[in-house]
Amino acid sequence: MLKKFFPDQHVKSVLDVAAEELRANNIKGIITDLDNTLVAWDEPSAPPRLIEWFERMRAAGIAITVVSNNNESRVRAFCEPLNIPYVSRARKPMRRAFKRAIRQMGLAKEDVVVIGDQLLTDIYGAKRLGARAILVVPVKSTDGWMTRINRKIERLLLSIMRKKGFIHWED
Ligand SMILES: [Mg+2]
Repeated sequence: MLKKFFPDQHVKSVLDVAAEELRANNIKGIITDLDNTLVAWDEPSAPPRLIEWFERMRAAGIAITVVSNNNESRVRAFCEPLNIPYVSRARKPMRRAFKRAIRQMGLAKEDVVVIGDQLLTDIYGAKRLGARAILVVPVKSTDGWMTRINRKIERLLLSIMRKKGFIHWED
């Protein structure tokens, strides 16, 4: 049961995810969360170093789709200038939005990795689907009440992961 909340990898920032490493693991597409994964939840657009990261992925032939539980206007405002496909109001951890993103990229679940900052939505959703998942440290802590409750459960899960030697950096 708990295994469904455990990511395959845990990194500090999405920028630490390298295109060559994904290619070496036969990853052809990324499904990424938006808020607190790519940028802070209240940051409307991508900083230059994130735009460069997107470009490195594209150059390596890795497709990207943003799958966010946030509303259409927030997700569109972020993704459209970057020409990145997206699914908003995704209702993660439900699998439907992930499946749609995978279909739109013309890939299979084995070909993609899900990147996100929340165990209960991003990682659990990916694992229910049978896709690989990378957990990132949240860019900024948020105020949303739902997220606050999720974070409490997350802290518990993270302490279990730490005890099992799963987390290799100190925070
Ligand atoms: Mg998030």
